[in-house]
Amino acid sequence: MTNKTIKDFQQLMKELYLDRDQQRGIEKSLLWLQTEQGELINAYLKEDTSTMNEEVADIFAWLCSVCNLFKIDLETAAWSKYPDKCPKCMKSPCNCLAK
Ligand SMILES: [Zn+2]
Repeated sequence: MTNKTIKDFQQLMKELYLDRDQQRGIEKSLLWLQTEQGELINAYLKEDTSTMNEEVADIFAWLCSVCNLFKIDLETAAWSKYPDKCPKCMKSPCNCLAK
């Protein structure tokens, strides 16, 4: 499909939306991220897989926008916390007690 990375996608969100995201601000952007999560849950409850695909993309896009505002590199943050193993038990697959 594509060889583009998480970093590429975050950069795209920066090019498309950074000005608007900065005008909106961090707190409202965080609210939008939360709203999209609710929309994913609604789509799941309706068993609407087409909309579920759209909502996970929206969540990821908003997460990238929030990271751009925080000046966090999402790809680096994700791989730093989850370096091919569970950050708590350091095993793959995870061997922690289920919650
Ligand atoms: Zn674990």
